[in-house]
Amino acid sequence: MSKIRITKQFTFEMAHVLKDYDGPCKNIHGHSYELFVTLIGKPSNNKNSPKYGMIMDFKDLKALVKKNVTDYYDHALLISDKHDPAVINSLKSSFEKVVVTPFQPTSENLVREIARTIISFLPEDIELHNLKLRETATAYAEWFAEDNQ
Ligand SMILES: [Zn+2]
Repeated sequence: MSKIRITKQFTFEMAHVLKDYDGPCKNIHGHSYELFVTLIGKPSNNKNSPKYGMIMDFKDLKALVKKNVTDYYDHALLISDKHDPAVINSLKSSFEKVVVTPFQPTSENLVREIARTIISFLPEDIELHNLKLRETATAYAEWFAEDNQ
């Protein structure tokens, strides 16, 4: 049976700040992110299954990504652990959703982290094909399984 790709789109609002960056993203600011999650696999040929003809129920994919990715990042501030600890602690004591990352929170690093998270929660027989993370109307980062084998 043919392999098929399916994609579901998500949105979340997130702030970030890039340490030692030489542009405007060195200031705390936000983006309306769009995340496209593409899976690849063979649709179920089990006629007795309610998931007959599906790779993964879009409803299940939505629940997985919402619970483990978008709910976590939505309306959060991402700040690298390389920032001054006093600043990080001040932000954490003042605001509810401050996510301290062991990496510079660029779209590139974020899409890699999201891939790792989604793969860890996917059923074994379903493969993540690629992710596209759009930060602005004209800029996005992509992760492809074939680039990371
Ligand atoms: Zn930015």
